[in-house]
Amino acid sequence: MNAYFVTFGCKVNQYETQAMMQQLQRCGYHTAEWTEGTPCDGETVIVVNSCTVTGESDRKLRQALHRLRRCCPQAVLVLSGCFPQAFPQKAQALTEADIVLGNACRDRLPQLLQAYRETGRQIVAVVPHPSEYEEKSIRCFEGRTRAFIKIEDGCNRFCSYCIIPYARGRVRSKPLAALREETEQLAAGGYREIVLVGINLTAYGQDLGLNLADAVETVCAVPGILRVRLGSLEPDFMTDAVIRRLAHCEQLCPQFHIALQSGCDATLRRMNRRYDCALFENLCRRLRAVFPDGTLTTDIMVGFPGETAADFEQSLAFCEKIGFARMHVFAYSVRPGTVAAGLPDQVPAAEKALRSRRMGACAAALAEKAAASLVGRTVQILVETRQKDGAWEGYTPGYIPVRLYRKDVQPGTVIPVKITGHVAGICLAE
Ligand code: SF4
Repeated sequence: MNAYFVTFGCKVNQYETQAMMQQLQRCGYHTAEWTEGTPCDGETVIVVNSCTVTGESDRKLRQALHRLRRCCPQAVLVLSGCFPQAFPQKAQALTEADIVLGNACRDRLPQLLQAYRETGRQIVAVVPHPSEYEEKSIRCFEGRTRAFIKIEDGCNRFCSYCIIPYARGRVRSKPLAALREETEQLAAGGYREIVLVGINLTAYGQDLGLNLADAVETVCAVPGILRVRLGSLEPDFMTDAVIRRLAHCEQLCPQFHIALQSGCDATLRRMNRRYDCALFENLCRRLRAVFPDGTLTTDIMVGFPGETAADFEQSLAFCEKIGFARMHVFAYSVRPGTVAAGLPDQVPAAEKALRSRRMGACAAALAEKAAASLVGRTVQILVETRQKDGAWEGYTPGYIPVRLYRKDVQPGTVIPVKITGHVAGICLAE
């Protein structure tokens, strides 16, 4: 029996797809990512692991379900993930979906497939999130040289533009013993870099009397793990005590992706974010003091309701001042069901597009500067993917991309390279 997966959204969703794949493999399924033209019949299962972070995500999801049903009329279509968890009725109304599976019911997938085959009637399995962390573990991360490990789920923050707390519940953390065991499995499988991910990663351990440093130390202690990377961080959780402990973790990659969202305090208040620019800047200073070779990367939103031209200029200037090595720029997108969707002074689409271009130009210039700062230096990279032009691509510990024109290297290995140049934010090495 074949089971194919379509995954939308964040690293946590990608991890959960791996976990569902391995769950079905244990039941005798052959699993793979769905690709156009894959032959399918009544035995075939297609799991769509959804994201609902924006209205646009929902539109793409509906489009994907229509297309899959059209090209695989007999297959069993499973709709799982954040969309059905946040909007069970809307999900049930999507008649293409034979099984509607909420985040808290993923472990029941094999039984529900059996039940569907017996009845042929749509099954809806969406229940509230449990208060404890739902144990899952993976032993490999197909198609990747580094493995994500989800250590935290849920969020207690309710930022005004965000639907995630409704789709993911309250903060729940993976116990350290389970984390150690999973890391050992992945190290035994040849993974040398682990990326710790979560819905609100920095909230890790709040429910267990632990914090993020406990998780990082646990993973660093596993033999064979050469690099540990952190997913997206919330600024106000990074205390001095956590930073000091992280500084003793040799394998920790000094790349800190701290979600800023806006460089304007008035906008941050309307976003219901729990920090201001002064706190953020102070955190950057503290991290740079402890990790002089560290890089700071971020997510930045433009065009949030009420953002004036002056607010935008302030946000742009703040990003230039911090000097991020990489910025993910997002134009605010209305997410029905959030507070921000009902806020006045929504910014016109054309103005949002203009601000995106300007913030994008700033991001490109800063990425170029970050790449240029490594020229002449020897850095360690994890060799990852082969490019069409034959070059190998990998990342420095600071998550700066590097292109290497050499034949005798192995994917998944960490090697020293000399940076000889840079182009468009990518370092060139020999
Ligand atoms: S911290 Fe805010 S933006 Fe991040 S998941 Fe929680 S509510 Fe959403």
